[in-house]
Amino acid sequence: MSYVYDDQNIFAKILRGEIPNTTVLETEHSLAFRDIHPQAPTHVLVIPKGPYVCFDHFAQTASDAEIVDYVRAVGEVCKLEGVEADGFRLIANAGKNGVQDVPHLHVHILAGRLLGPMLARG
Ligand code: 5GP
Repeated sequence: MSYVYDDQNIFAKILRGEIPNTTVLETEHSLAFRDIHPQAPTHVLVIPKGPYVCFDHFAQTASDAEIVDYVRAVGEVCKLEGVEADGFRLIANAGKNGVQDVPHLHVHILAGRLLGPMLARG
């Protein structure tokens, strides 16, 4: 599948500085910021700066440098937010069935409460 990136998505606007965000971490290739509608006491989104629609698009086409930077950024946010002691959930929604609302790759880091079953019904 070849993905077409829409540069008008909300995270592209955040990356261009057109919309404010609460930054947790910025690296050469990645940005982490707080979700505007947190689902848990800790809810951080980590995105690559490059134009990738979803995780498989990124994994198949990003450079090694971008991938290393991104994975390390997720690890650094986990450390900064102190989520390892009590655990956390990492979610990457993709496409229609994955119910991805914003078509720019992001992982959700959720922590700070018992998160319940992995999937909601329906
Ligand atoms: P998705 O459903 O695509 O996996 O998740 C998109 C996430 O982006 C949602 O959790 C939503 O609350 C968050 N979000 C949408 N618009 C904004 C925004 O303008 N700023 C921030 N910080 N988060 C946003």
